[in-house]
Amino acid sequence: MVPSDHGYEEIREGVRDLCAQYPASHFRGIDERRAYPEAFVDALTKAGWLAALIPQEYGGSGLGLTEASVIMEEINRCGANAGACHGQMYNMGTLLRHGSKAQKEKYLPAIARGELRLQSMAVTEPAITTFAEKRGDRYVANGQKVWISRVQHSDLMILLARTTPVAKAGKKSEGLSIFLVDLRDAVGRTITVRPIANMVNHETNELFIENLEIPAENLIGEEGRGFLYILDGLNAERAIIAAECIGDGYWFLDKVTAYAKERVVFGRAIGANQGVQFPIAEANMAKHLAAKASWQAGEACLQFHGGYGFAAEYDVERKFRETRLYQVAPISTNLILAYVAEHVLGLPRSF
Ligand SMILES: Cc1cc2nc3c(=O)[nH]c(=O)nc-3n(C[C@H](O)[C@H](O)[C@H](O)COP(=O)(O)OP(=O)(O)OC[C@H]3O[C@@H](n4cnc5c(N)ncnc54)[C@H](O)[C@@H]3O)c2cc1C
Repeated sequence: MVPSDHGYEEIREGVRDLCAQYPASHFRGIDERRAYPEAFVDALTKAGWLAALIPQEYGGSGLGLTEASVIMEEINRCGANAGACHGQMYNMGTLLRHGSKAQKEKYLPAIARGELRLQSMAVTEPAITTFAEKRGDRYVANGQKVWISRVQHSDLMILLARTTPVAKAGKKSEGLSIFLVDLRDAVGRTITVRPIANMVNHETNELFIENLEIPAENLIGEEGRGFLYILDGLNAERAIIAAECIGDGYWFLDKVTAYAKERVVFGRAIGANQGVQFPIAEANMAKHLAAKASWQAGEACLQFHGGYGFAAEYDVERKFRETRLYQVAPISTNLILAYVAEHVLGLPRSF
């Protein structure tokens, strides 16, 4: 096994012990059926791992983002896909930072106990046109969202909607608000969910929102500041997904290193050839570049499995598809580079 970063051994061992009960064949079967890893997510929830970031006063374990990242890294390193449930870990952060005391007391303990799932956040849409109009003690929302994940496996969803028309809002990023939507009441009535068949076994959907009534008490924070609240929460999401990519990178490296030692062609292990060794070593050095590294590791892992890289029973093709997602979502690599160019290097904005 490629050695992991030092530290947090207790957490790593705890997660590994749980994951050991779910071998690769389990996830392979789920991928074939395009099913949701319900038993695995349930076990993670019951063991308290997904409540890592919820403060102890609300029933969580009150750990920090580093510990949360270690948990997700280990899940992916074991061959599972934390992407199926990572929303449960970080979506509640929006509520924690910007919600009222009453909202936190009402929802956070139930989320920590695993009785409520807050796995979905609805931001993306073809053009931000979803509008929530205030009518007395409620808002009425209409619009459309796309690529909204885990809606079918969530009780609650954070919805971003415009509450002030762009023309009156000043900036495009102002006049947007966020709401906690109870999916149990809305799905099939005021929210129509159309699943999107996709490359990864990722439960993601188009949402058609028609006269969705949201009690005013479910507005999170101040009206009009929702976009800033969403940006706040995205930092945790980015860090956690980076950790998942590191976990994937380790998984690919472990897998390809073992195979390159074992596979003998023309009388020698393929791993004895520099043409095989160098890309693997490069992927190892680069692993902290998270998504990019996991993709490079995946590329090397698939390439050096030869034909077997395409065979479902080796799990490589599945992990390859799963980790490819992180080049595009939750933010595309181009936009990360554009951000670094502008805000770190001080270059002119490119778009
Ligand atoms: C499986 C999956 C799950 C998702 N889950 C969720 C979810 O739960 N909730 C949610 O709100 N969203 C979700 N998304 C949406 C995801 O966040 C977006 O797909 C992602 O941010 C990319 O945005 P886009 O699809 O609108 O691409 P676009 O913005 O249309 O961009 C298309 C391409 O053009 C490039 N591009 C665009 N603008 C620029 C520029 N200025 N400079 C250089 N290149 C540029 C991008 O790199 C990208 O490759 C999910 C997406 C997927 C695929």
